[in-house]
Amino acid sequence: MNDARQILGAAYKYAIDGAVKYGDCPMCKKSPVETVIKSLWLGPQGRILIDGWCRSCKFKRQQWVDTKEFPDAYDLAMSLRELRIEMSGR
Ligand SMILES: [Zn+2]
Repeated sequence: MNDARQILGAAYKYAIDGAVKYGDCPMCKKSPVETVIKSLWLGPQGRILIDGWCRSCKFKRQQWVDTKEFPDAYDLAMSLRELRIEMSGR
């Protein structure tokens, strides 16, 4: 969660809200429906993955923010990820 804030910086709220507030749910078919965030983590290819559930029917959902859309965020995401891999390899 802190990583996502660090990576996105000032764009955090805009980026995360954009991802979780305007999806549609395959289960209850509501659209748009908000995702309640359980956790955020740094995935491959500079993506920030959002695990959570549908606010309406509690169906599990996973969404993501592509950091390539945000200047600087992608570079930061990739260098953090490299650091993690390096540290776990020792
Ligand atoms: Zn739903």
